[in-house]
Amino acid sequence: MTLSDVTDQDGHATAERFSVEAVNSKKIRQPLYAARRKIFPKRASGTFRRFKWLVMLLTLGIYYLTPFLRWDRGPFAPDQAVMIDLANRRFYFFFIEIWPQEFYYVAGLLIMAGVGLFLITSTVGRAWCGYTCPQTVWVDLFLVVERAIEGDRNARIKLDSAPWSLDKAVKRVAKHAIWLVIGVVTGGAWILYFADAPTLIRNFSQFEAPSVAYITVGILAATTYVFGGLMREQVCTYMCPWPRIQAAMLDEHSLTVTYNDWRGEPRTRHAKKAIAEGRPVGDCVDCNACVVVCPMGIDIRDGQQLECITCALCIDACDGVMTKLGHERGLISYATLNDYNANMVLAGASATTPIEPARVRDPATGKLVDAIRHTTWRSIVRPRTLVYFLVWAGIGVAMLVALSLRATIEVSVLHDRNPQYVLLSDGSIRNGYKVKISNMRPEPRTVTLSVEGLPGAALASADAAAQPVASLTYELQPDAVLETRIFVRAAPGALASTNTDFTLAVASADGTATVMTDAKFEAPKEMRK
Ligand code: SF4
Ligand code: SF4
Repeated sequence: MTLSDVTDQDGHATAERFSVEAVNSKKIRQPLYAARRKIFPKRASGTFRRFKWLVMLLTLGIYYLTPFLRWDRGPFAPDQAVMIDLANRRFYFFFIEIWPQEFYYVAGLLIMAGVGLFLITSTVGRAWCGYTCPQTVWVDLFLVVERAIEGDRNARIKLDSAPWSLDKAVKRVAKHAIWLVIGVVTGGAWILYFADAPTLIRNFSQFEAPSVAYITVGILAATTYVFGGLMREQVCTYMCPWPRIQAAMLDEHSLTVTYNDWRGEPRTRHAKKAIAEGRPVGDCVDCNACVVVCPMGIDIRDGQQLECITCALCIDACDGVMTKLGHERGLISYATLNDYNANMVLAGASATTPIEPARVRDPATGKLVDAIRHTTWRSIVRPRTLVYFLVWAGIGVAMLVALSLRATIEVSVLHDRNPQYVLLSDGSIRNGYKVKISNMRPEPRTVTLSVEGLPGAALASADAAAQPVASLTYELQPDAVLETRIFVRAAPGALASTNTDFTLAVASADGTATVMTDAKFEAPKEMRK
């Protein structure tokens, strides 16, 4: 690294110049896969870096700690707030309990996540990639460990190129050991979502957990270590489909991290010399601060690139340089293509004419002129984003309404196939059914089963000694399904056809729920009225 290599208009050294070349730049971009060149991102500081720390703490905190949150559902259901109970086929999410037949709620959540990504991408570009994608968050975490052990960029480059020594070996072993521990903890946290967390931790540590738990932790620990520690930016560049998909979602109103060359070019390291020679001078002092902080190893001054995850760390780096130089911040900023194009026109740039930085500055004050276009709320609130938002909110509201209105008892009925009916000695007809009654509450319940729409019909359990009655009573276990066989008897004179529709009604004894299901009563042709 060369220091104090950048001079201002008075010829004073003002900012460090970093000796770096983007590993993946316009000049050297390979058509297909190229062997990885190591990237040693420098620690950035500024508004976006602080925001990223916050998001990282929040997302990692949610991931690692959620399995330990408790939610009292009474004595008959697990008290883990978020849990996927595969053995009993239940999904618990705080006050919500999803049964397998209600998977459409999960499908709804997935659709909301998809539409949400559309919404976010069309407004603020690849914010998901830059701030909340697990790959980004874990790479950030692994970099924290790397910096703590090996130091910032220069120290890491020095250590990397140094011959093997005890110091280097100790640092490398320590770094990889901590990365592996993070991997194991990450895999360990994942399995805690599938069983009672404290119990599973105890069983796991005593080697009494199911083997699938150890296999899952092993796989996730390995992928976290390899993706977060070893492959890093290559996962985004070569493995993830999202950069390709997002290219189709962005439009000229989407915010992306942009190098504003309409004020930055022509870039120069020695402004005084350039001015003395009568050359135009832009704001970019070619210090490479934006390149050295980039975790993807690219140079944002090359323009929009598939590799850019819009983490905005180059904005922080450049803002720091601009502040030191006494220029307005925002040489690299979030901007829309529309605003960028308008500002390029303002700077006189076209296919045949170069940027004239003097056109965007007031000659009297030296400040940027008011005519420069800046991002406004209109970039975010526009028909396309409104449609995405309405679809997203509509699905959410529909799911909330469905959740609040859903019955806590479900009933399903299956007619016996053979025989379809039985003629009894008293002249009546009997049909047999298999009935399933689901108690979707974590507490015992008493329910009655009755027939509606079949005049004079009576019910009996499939027990040979059972007498026909108007309704049957069942005790349901908490959060369980009762399966039973019943007989329905009807007099032939009450039947309108060989195939009569009727309803089976299940009502809870406490009056909180009544559900119905349709069924058919079969009779021989000659017996209908
Ligand atoms: S170019 Fe800037 S925004 Fe894009 S990945 Fe690099 S540092 Fe992040
Ligand atoms: S864009 Fe900013 S950070 Fe990057 S080289 Fe130019 S002045 Fe330095």
